[in-house]
Order: sequence, then C-alpha cells, then structure tokens
Amino acid sequence: MTATIRILSEDLCNRIAAGEVVERPASVVKELVENSLDAGAASIVVTIENGGRTLIRVEDDGCGMSRDDLFLCLERHATSKIESDADLFRLRTLGFRGEALPSIAAVSRTTLKSRIAGSDEGWELQLEGGAVRKSQGAGMPPGTDIEVRQLFFNVPARRKFLKSDATEFAHCADFIGHIALAFPQVRMVLRHNGRVILNLPRQNDPFLRARDVLGDVFGDALPVERRAGDLCLTGFAAPPQQNRSLADGIHAYVNRRFVRDRLIQHAVLEGYRQLLPKQRYPLAVLFLDLPPEQVDVNVHPAKREVRFRNQREIHDFIATTLLDLWRAPREEEAPSPGAGASEAVPSLNEEQAFDLFARENAPNVPDGPPESAPQTADAAPPAESVLVKGESRSAFPPPVSETAAVPETRPADGFAERPVSFRTEHFSPPAGPPEPSRHPALFTRGRFGAMRILGQYHETYIVCQDEGDLVLVDQHAAHERIGFERLKAEFHSHAVASQTLLFPVVMDLDFGERDMLEKRKSDMERLGFDLELYGGRSCALRAIPAFLDPGEAENALRDVAAELLALDASSALEDALDKVLIRMACHGMIRANQTLSMQEMRELLRQLDEIDFESHCPHGRPVVQRFSRRAIEAMFQRT
Ligand code: ADP
Ligand code: MG
Repeated sequence: MTATIRILSEDLCNRIAAGEVVERPASVVKELVENSLDAGAASIVVTIENGGRTLIRVEDDGCGMSRDDLFLCLERHATSKIESDADLFRLRTLGFRGEALPSIAAVSRTTLKSRIAGSDEGWELQLEGGAVRKSQGAGMPPGTDIEVRQLFFNVPARRKFLKSDATEFAHCADFIGHIALAFPQVRMVLRHNGRVILNLPRQNDPFLRARDVLGDVFGDALPVERRAGDLCLTGFAAPPQQNRSLADGIHAYVNRRFVRDRLIQHAVLEGYRQLLPKQRYPLAVLFLDLPPEQVDVNVHPAKREVRFRNQREIHDFIATTLLDLWRAPREEEAPSPGAGASEAVPSLNEEQAFDLFARENAPNVPDGPPESAPQTADAAPPAESVLVKGESRSAFPPPVSETAAVPETRPADGFAERPVSFRTEHFSPPAGPPEPSRHPALFTRGRFGAMRILGQYHETYIVCQDEGDLVLVDQHAAHERIGFERLKAEFHSHAVASQTLLFPVVMDLDFGERDMLEKRKSDMERLGFDLELYGGRSCALRAIPAFLDPGEAENALRDVAAELLALDASSALEDALDKVLIRMACHGMIRANQTLSMQEMRELLRQLDEIDFESHCPHGRPVVQRFSRRAIEAMFQRT
C-alpha cells in the first residue's frame, strides 16, 4: 500500500489549505469560536498565551463530537454542516468548508477533546503537524475543548510574519469583540497570559452586550428595527455628531457574520448623508438578516465580504432605514427601494437637522440645514446666481451648488435685502477649479487686521472690505489654520502646552488603540496628552492639550490615535505630525454657524496675521476669497 505517499500528499494539502485559512493566531481563534457557536454553545472560554504563539485554547459547552466524529473532523472537507450543493446556498452556520480543523492541526500541536451529552466520557486526540500521536478517553464535561500549541512550529516562514505578541493578541481580542456583539446570549471569556481581558456575561439585549464590549459609546444611539419582505435590519445607530475618523465604528453583520463589506458601508454612509462632515464615519451596530439563499458568503477566504443576490435592494433598504431614523415622525413611511436617498434628504426635519449641525463641531460642517448644505468644501468659485422674483438674496453670488438648492430662510446679516439681478455674461467668475485668491497684498503680514469688517454672512463667513476689494473669510477654516500653526510652533519649540484635568476622562479603547498608545506614551506627552492605561481596555486622560475644551478630549484622543495607528510601529511621530496636528486643531475650533461678535471677528483676523499664512486651511480648503471691485461692478452692469 502506498500509504506513505497518501499521507504526505494529504499533509501537504492541509498545509496549503492552512496558508489560506490560518494566517495568524486570530484566524485560529476565529475558526474555533465559530465552530463553538455552530455547535450551539452557551459559554465559550478562550485562553491565549503569548499572543497565541504558544497557546490558543477554546472550550465550549456545545453539542460535542462523538469519538468517531472526532477522527472524522480532521479529514479535509469533513463537515456536518452541508450535504449537497444546494446547502451551500442555505447556510445557517458560520462554518461550512470543513477545512479549519485539519488546516489548524497541520501547522501546530493540537489536542482535541470532546464529549457529547449523554455519553459518560469524552475522547481525546493529540496531534502533531496533523498526525495523530495519541488517542484516549478523557474525563470532561459535555462540550469541546481544543488546545492549539506552538502555532506554525513546522512552518518557520509563517512564524516570521507574526507581529509582536501584543499585536497578535489585539487581533484575537478584536475578533472576539466583533463576534460577541452578534451573539449576546452566549457567555464569552477571554484570557491572555493568565489575565481575564474580557468577561462577557450572557445578555438578552444586544445593546447591553455592546456596552460590555465597547464601553459607553452608544449612549445616545437610536434603536434600528425594520423589516421589508425577507429583509430585516436591527441594531442601533449613534447620532451623527458622534462620529469617527475611521469606518471601523460601523459594525455590520450579515446573518450574524461580521463583515467589512463595501456595499454595506456605502449604504450606511448614505443613510447618514449630509449629516456627517466630510471624511467622518458614523458609529453603528447593524444586523442584516435575510434568507441564506440570497447571499453568498463564499466569495472571500475569511468570509469577510459577501455578495448579495439583489445588491441594489439591500443597499437602499439599509440607507433608507437609517435616513428615516433621523427624520421627524410625520415623515414615517414605508421604505421605497426605488426612491433614492436624494429624495429622502430634503424632507429631513429642519429643526432636527439644525440641531444636529449645531452640536456638530468637526471640520467642514456644511453651513445650514442639509437641504442648503451641499458639501461644497472645495469652495466652488463665485458664479452666476438665479434670482427668484421678490426673494431677497445676498448681494454677491453664492457658489452654484448652493444656489440651486437653497430656499433662503434668513436675510444675510448686514446686507441690503434688495432683490438684485445681474446677467451672468457680465460677470466672469475665475475660470477652472477653485483657485483661491492669490492677491499678493492679502498675504502680507498685518493685512487681515487692517481690513474693515462689514459683518458676518450666514454665521459662517466674515465679510470684509480691503481697500477696493470685497473679502470673505471662512471663520472655521481660518480658525483651524490658526490652531494648526500654533500647535506646530508649540510642538517644535518644546511640546504642546498641556492642561491637567480636574476630573480625568475615563474612556474605553479598543485593543489596537491600547497597544499603540502604550508604545507611544512619550509621543502622546509631546502632543499634550497624559494618559494612564489600566488593565483591560480602560484608560484615564489626566491632561490634554491646553487649547482643547475638556468636552472634546475624548474625541480628540481617538482621532489622534487613529492617525497614529495608520503609522507603522517603527515610524517616528514626526512622519505623521501634520496629520496629527490637523486632527487636534479641528477639535478646538470655531465652527460654522456660530455668531461672532465684532470683537471676536477682529481678533480672529488679527490672529490670522500672526501665522505664516498660506491661503488654505490644513484640510486644503480655502480660508479666504477675494472679489475685486471690478467684478462686483460688472455684476451690476456698472462697467
Ligand atoms: P466546518 O466548520 O466548515 O464544518 P471545521 O473543520 O471547522 O469545518 O469543523 C469540522 C466539523 O467538526 C464541523 O462540521 C463540526 O461537525 C465538528 N466540530 C468542529 N468544532 C466543533 C465544536 N466545537 N463542537 C462540536 N462540533 C465541532
Ligand atoms: Mg468551522
């Protein structure tokens, strides 16, 4: 018998499969925990040592395996979960390929123990590199207990790719955090090097589970619950003013499987359309449930992406459900998958929308309710305006996109409300892409302070006269620029000035953030943050940059952390300094839609003179626009 050859080829096969399934310790944790969930476990205990390099152990109280099944589950494509092709499209379990156990066993020293309810003892298999070394009875409670030791002991190449223990553990912990949200009724415990890191009791309410896992970030979230035909979306969504700089605050699940799916992310963003500042992402936990035959989860080896049979319908279902969440009750109506989000937005309750904006303080906030707030962050050049008869308008033309959408509700402060009219051919807007004025005089020191302030337009722009010209200053962009330049100067002269908080802000971090902040403690101090990391995921912010409002401390820290996380571990803080300082600057800023007194405006202009001024705010948005007298006169056909 050519037994040797068969064993070798199977072994090789398993190692090749292992390359796909088992990338790092977190992949082992994922496969084992998913198996436990598929086995109906009510309690899962995960024990990890040295980031998973030396030990990953998963114990459950699920249905267990008989002695025969214990041998069988190690065969490739041995699965109890599907029988036929058709089953592949009706999956109700997390696993189905029957590849995980043999793949894991092939690259480690694994011990499998299992006992089915009703049998008086369990059975144990000890394997090394996939080969069975020992098989014996085992005294144990019903359930399954799998220990994976010395991962990649026989694949040195893989071992080399592993990151630090802390990083590998962080990946494991993040997986547990994600899956725990979808299975609140399952108790989950995670230990690392003898310490209990997560201890999640059984919860009936996913909201309570989310609090246990993520901390109190969902305080003001609204519940989401909508059914339409076969589709069901549940979970909760935080209001737009609680936003993040990264998309990972969107926890999306399809049939309880955690996914990072583009279509879903897009739909969620659409559901917050125009309520979020540019480049900001919402915070939500969303469970999409639909008949398994309508979704293919087999398109990605780690099953992170999915494909829906009816992409458009799913997209619009999610987007409209969220849009409706922010609408007034009278707007309540059935979701209309055909009706795009563009129709839904204008019917946003104006007061509600205003309120959301007023509380918003991140950059690039549109200036007004959503319908008047196309995100023209790149400041379209002044262009023609169409005037509705009898309607009062400001004397100078707003950007095109605003013109099209704004039903004017407030008079423009400080300006004549006479209807004006002009023919577009007499007015020549600067051609091409937004080219902010590069009027040399504007950038001479001392110039801003010398301008005559005429007033504030739309609580967003300071209107000035500079000799013959009309100058508009975006107050938010200007302030951001000032903050950025100051921080930069402080940073380079010594460190960012810091204020000690009377009451330290206690917050929860995710494992990746914690790991990074621990390593970059001294960098954080140079940035003005003094933080104390506790065991687990909490930390206390004891001091923050002096210019920050303590109410902004947590958001600012998270944003800075997000920037630093994007930096690889060996890079210096200086490599991302501008980005980090921009993030910080954003949190101390005057926002759009804020009335400024004459004195405040004057002060802002004076401060502009103090910085080494370029015409853009750090986000690349223009700070100043200039209109020559000639251009204005042309509008009125005076020339
Ligand atoms: P899959 O999950 O794709 O079926 P696996 O290799 O992960 O493939 O597992 C193979 C089989 O082993 C499963 O179908 C299941 O029958 C059995 N099994 C694995 N883990 C457990 C567990 N914790 N409890 C009960 N049965 C399990
Ligand atoms: Mg499996």
